[in-house]
Amino acid sequence: ASGPVMLELRDVHTYYGQIHALKGLNMTVNQGEIVALIGGNGAGKTTTLRTISGMMKPKHGQVVYEGQSIGGVPAHTILGRGMSHVPEGRRIFPQLSVRENLEVGAYTVTDRAVVEQRIEEGFALFPRLKERETQLGGTMSGGEQQMLAIARALMVNPRLLLLDEPSMGLSPLFVEAIFDIVEKLNRERGTTILLVEQNASMALGIAHRAYVLQTGEIRLSGPAADIARDESVRKAYLGDE
Ligand code: ATP
Repeated sequence: ASGPVMLELRDVHTYYGQIHALKGLNMTVNQGEIVALIGGNGAGKTTTLRTISGMMKPKHGQVVYEGQSIGGVPAHTILGRGMSHVPEGRRIFPQLSVRENLEVGAYTVTDRAVVEQRIEEGFALFPRLKERETQLGGTMSGGEQQMLAIARALMVNPRLLLLDEPSMGLSPLFVEAIFDIVEKLNRERGTTILLVEQNASMALGIAHRAYVLQTGEIRLSGPAADIARDESVRKAYLGDE
């Protein structure tokens, strides 16, 4: 079930100095969808998320979120408008406890009771975090840190969640668990999700629609089931011979 357009990229170009990383991206994410962005190393997936969440400014083109142009708007302002980004490599605070990491995630939430309620919701979603409430973030396993990173991003109760490679470096069991949670968030809370993944088969398994990115350009887009059947995608990203 997908609603109106929530996010739209119109001819977005992003650079790192002279490096032209995104070369005219056009994409939409509708309210209520899970959209997967797949592609090989260096295709520009991370750069796309950074450009959407305000960590990078597009040199050309528009990022429109809930009807407003946000290209160049600072990341904390965008966060305040209900968009949360779980960056690549998790980036939790290693010296803070699980609970403190969650509290930091809620720094824009001023009502203490709301913060407590969201922490409890995070613990309900990830019971393992509750068991480890006082453990230092840096001493948790990779999969646990990924759970913490997602739970922290949820502290602002986002309407749009950007997830960068949540499966990276995780054992198959953790990958399953993370993808189950992502699906559940979408189904039960209606959270809209833009998911970047190297693990294309898992991502296409839970997504409604997908975009295939190659050297900064969209090569293919459509319903996830169609993309998963596409021969070129199967060869390049799904390990088919
Ligand atoms: P991966 O799956 O390997 O993480 P990706 O699809 O997320 O790749 P990006 O990280 O967005 O790709 O990189 C897109 C392009 O921009 C690549 O050519 C990369 O080398 C370049 N790039 C990324 N970060 C920087 C940076 N900080 N400085 C210069 N170039 C960068």
